[in-house]
Amino acid sequence: MTTTTKTLYELPFTGVKEYKMFINNQWVESASGETFDSVNPFTGEVWAKAPKGEKEDIDLAVKAAKAAFETGEWSKVNGAGRAALLRKLGDLIGENAEILAISEVVDNGKLIREMLGQTKSLSGWCYYFAGLADKIHGESIPVDIPNMINYTVREPLGVVGAIIPWNSPLLLTLFKLGPALAAGNTMVIKPSEVTPASLLELAKLIEEAGFPPGVVNIVTGFGHTAGDALAKHPDVRKIAFTGSSATGKLIVKNSAEHFARVSLELGGKSPNIIFEDANLPNAVNGVLAGIFAASGQTCMAGSRVLVQDSIYDEFVKRLVERTSQIRLGNPLDMETEMGTVAFEGQHQKVLKYIEIGKQEGATVLYGGKRPTTPELKNGFFVEPTIFGDVRNDMRIAQEEIFGPVVCIIRFKDEADALEIANDTEFGLAAAVWTIDVQRAHRLASKINAGTVWINNYRKVSYASPFGGFKASGIGRENGMQAVHEYTQIKSIWIDMGNVIT
Ligand code: NAD
Repeated sequence: MTTTTKTLYELPFTGVKEYKMFINNQWVESASGETFDSVNPFTGEVWAKAPKGEKEDIDLAVKAAKAAFETGEWSKVNGAGRAALLRKLGDLIGENAEILAISEVVDNGKLIREMLGQTKSLSGWCYYFAGLADKIHGESIPVDIPNMINYTVREPLGVVGAIIPWNSPLLLTLFKLGPALAAGNTMVIKPSEVTPASLLELAKLIEEAGFPPGVVNIVTGFGHTAGDALAKHPDVRKIAFTGSSATGKLIVKNSAEHFARVSLELGGKSPNIIFEDANLPNAVNGVLAGIFAASGQTCMAGSRVLVQDSIYDEFVKRLVERTSQIRLGNPLDMETEMGTVAFEGQHQKVLKYIEIGKQEGATVLYGGKRPTTPELKNGFFVEPTIFGDVRNDMRIAQEEIFGPVVCIIRFKDEADALEIANDTEFGLAAAVWTIDVQRAHRLASKINAGTVWINNYRKVSYASPFGGFKASGIGRENGMQAVHEYTQIKSIWIDMGNVIT
């Protein structure tokens, strides 16, 4: 029997798709009636339109979320009930993984081969947090006061505002939706204006799963209008934000007006450190996956590769050789190994940083341009780019480029590597490649980053806390810790009265 494997995926419709947004389980236009375009970064053409939600729309969504939390059906659903709904959503995500993946690929140019795996794995976030929904409890505390009992309970916060970037809308929404709903909160989610579609596809599944009206609302729109209104809304008790460090600062200022909590998952300039005793083929694979996956547009991109002097030339030779084999092409083709960057502004930003790197005196070892092949000419492509001779004080080594550009930096010894690794305002992730287990542990304990991988890069799980040190963020997503970040503790005291003698 012969089996054929599909290689080219396509949208299940032709023409421009007109989406509505999702408020109080209704599919609605924006109050102004205006829409904005989503451009397919491979063709440069508009493929979808979404409502341009603004303050009025955010107000409606927050009102619905508040009513669902305080008086609606959601407030009567217990942990087991919330778990059942999350599990149902997980099933539906698994069944609809293909359309979810395609809509994100067409929105932001990520690879279908990567997205199909990712959307299938999203169900895991629903199942994991479903498993925790009925296990959120406080403690009994032995206070040193006669006749008193003290215990705590963990209560949900209320309305949570989730503000999502364009590079991985579905995954980064699930990071927030899983723990927020498991803990009993309601949500208003604002996708990036660059990528509204995949979250509106997810909203269809949220409706089908049977969540009561107002529990999850998705308002599409721009950051300075819809996002700003959400961050400033007095009825929002927490803002869960993923995006740039610059916007993160604004979010903190605005949410401080009404003392809403914030969790911030921000940028990175993560070091990927290769010692002379590392398994070189594995390290090269780790570097490629760390920087060229999603065309370098991941917060955890291993954008600074620190290589020990003694193996520098050999490592660079291998890396350049493997990079030269990367197939650029249609992101919907399973054969393609690197897609576009997500939109025109980002494309210009990445190309500008490549020029800055050249002016700073770094050497382009591979790539460095927009490719000129005819089939790629309409897309926002950047060649996978390797800079050698980079010093850690150069702008290309300090500023987040968020594109397929890697900086190779030499180091002498362990102390030198550690100093360079920590010499950054960021602290999201790091990797160490060595077979010396003592050195691996030493560095893992001394690197200032929220995640350290040893002999690996880019592993993430719903069960393991993820977040940043320093300018890379505040708070953690995933794991039991994440559920706690969507609860507040109440301390309850009981006087047992007179003791019977
Ligand atoms: P961005 O900060 O420009 O936008 C993120 C979101 O914030 C969007 O929805 C946008 O509309 C909204 N926004 C913009 N201005 C706003 C304002 N004034 N008030 C409220 N909301 C506003 O970031 P981006 O360009 O979409 O995403 C790329 C950035 O995200 C990179 O810096 C990347 O490192 C970071 N990121 C971090 C993680 C992580 O987990 N640490 C994951 C992915 C991306």
